[in-house]
Amino acid sequence: MTASRRSALPTTGSRPRVGVLAVQGAFAEHERALSASGAAPVQLRSGEGLDGIYGLVIPGGESTTLRIVARDSGLVEALRDAVAGGMPVLGTCAGLIALADQILGGDPPLIGGLDVTVRRNAYGSQVASFEATVESDVPGESAIDAIFIRAPQIARVGAGVEVLARYAGTPVAVRQGTLVGTAFHPELTDDRRFHEWLVNAARARREQMGTILGEERRVGAQ
Ligand code: GLN
Repeated sequence: MTASRRSALPTTGSRPRVGVLAVQGAFAEHERALSASGAAPVQLRSGEGLDGIYGLVIPGGESTTLRIVARDSGLVEALRDAVAGGMPVLGTCAGLIALADQILGGDPPLIGGLDVTVRRNAYGSQVASFEATVESDVPGESAIDAIFIRAPQIARVGAGVEVLARYAGTPVAVRQGTLVGTAFHPELTDDRRFHEWLVNAARARREQMGTILGEERRVGAQ
């Protein structure tokens, strides 16, 4: 294939494989957003599927359902290992709850890794959903059109956590290292910056893993 054809039509190989946890919740929109951002999305239903995956989306839905579905499958442990190993992860809404180190109201953390405390269904009643413009805390970035669906509130942010966006002064998007969590649903609007961040991070991880693998091979060959 010529270089010009390659740039016009990226091959699947050039797209980093990014997993979308597909055990519950809205994952089709994330797959579309990831494709539009240059990744090859892969549906994940078990921990084994994590091989060859360089980034991960934990979608919205019901964190309680995720807790029940994932309980006996080893999936939570596999996801914890992936997070601890530096896997870039975007957790949206229930996905943010899954990443939180602390959940108010007595639930133990699900995956954890993100030093925040969340309060589930904090914006009004169970059915409360709304659209709002949220301010970006990132210098030079424009405001974000955000859709909240029975969203959790980020009640506490740890010292190592960067606030990316706020609604009425309260953090609604945060980042800590390779983990990003949003209280809203970036997959439901055309604003691709969160998925683009994930795809870029996945690309960097693929490169890094390739380098590590290459070094291991060289060491092994000595
Ligand atoms: N209310 C859900 C929960 O607490 C989250 C809602 C969502 O992901 N849209 O798990």
